[in-house]
Amino acid sequence: LKQQNKFEPIRKLGKGTFGEVWLVRQKASPNYLCAIKYVPGSRVEQVHTNREISIHLTCHGHQNVIRIYSHQMIRDDCLIVEEYANNGTLHSRICSGYLTIDLVQRYFKQLIAGLRYIHEKGIVHHDIKPRNLLLSVDNVLKIADFGCSSRFRDVYGKLKLITQAVGTTKFWPPECFGRYAYHAQPVDIWSAGIVLYYMVAREVPWNAASEKCYNYNCWKLHQTFKKQVLCVKNNEEIQKTLGRVLETDPCQRATLADIENSEFHKCVYARY
Ligand code: ADP
Repeated sequence: LKQQNKFEPIRKLGKGTFGEVWLVRQKASPNYLCAIKYVPGSRVEQVHTNREISIHLTCHGHQNVIRIYSHQMIRDDCLIVEEYANNGTLHSRICSGYLTIDLVQRYFKQLIAGLRYIHEKGIVHHDIKPRNLLLSVDNVLKIADFGCSSRFRDVYGKLKLITQAVGTTKFWPPECFGRYAYHAQPVDIWSAGIVLYYMVAREVPWNAASEKCYNYNCWKLHQTFKKQVLCVKNNEEIQKTLGRVLETDPCQRATLADIENSEFHKCVYARY
């Protein structure tokens, strides 16, 4: 960063799988803060970083997706200059205390709006989780980290099938643990459902969603899960939405349009 001379580092914001993220000030316009993701060349295959950037650039024109301002290679290292989300991650927000119902609804609606935009651009995120959802001023939620994302159509416009699951197992739907190839969009919807559950219950519904589920009994899992979903007592509309979104059969699972038309999406809660 110092070599770059354009930016003044302020503090480290976080450490990702492949590198560090720094809060910086642009020297030319000191009031202008941004986040810089620094990916050292030794840590990641170039191809991977380039793919992440190209996918992110395809779908960053929405207020609920973190914007990329620029990116450049310095020798083998990569610097990605991004919009700075100054209120941390949804994960840290959830850890710091219970969310009011209207705030849960607000975050969920923004997550769905961001996902709708990303999917319309032909991209699936495949790693939706509270640590990848950033918050900026006025509680605007921003989807970040496109490291696991991919295009879900092939060059002929046909839907691709995923054969190797990526992302975070706790947020995976059952089809990711199965032996068969699956379509990608319903995965993001399921993960959004787990995020909704997490916002209300402050824990994921099952920690058993691990590698050993590879051969699990889907029906049993479904029953346990439904029971747990019904334990989220706070709100009937949330329960209904969770029941539809966390549907183990991806063909039966709610679509983005179903969610947008749900009671939970439409009802008006008192402002926090
Ligand atoms: P990974 O790719 O390993 O999931 P990232 O490199 O995207 O992680 O980010 C690591 C951490 O840096 C995040 O959890 C978050 O706390 C912080 N961070 C990343 N991007 C931004 C940003 N644009 N604004 C503010 N904080 C960010």
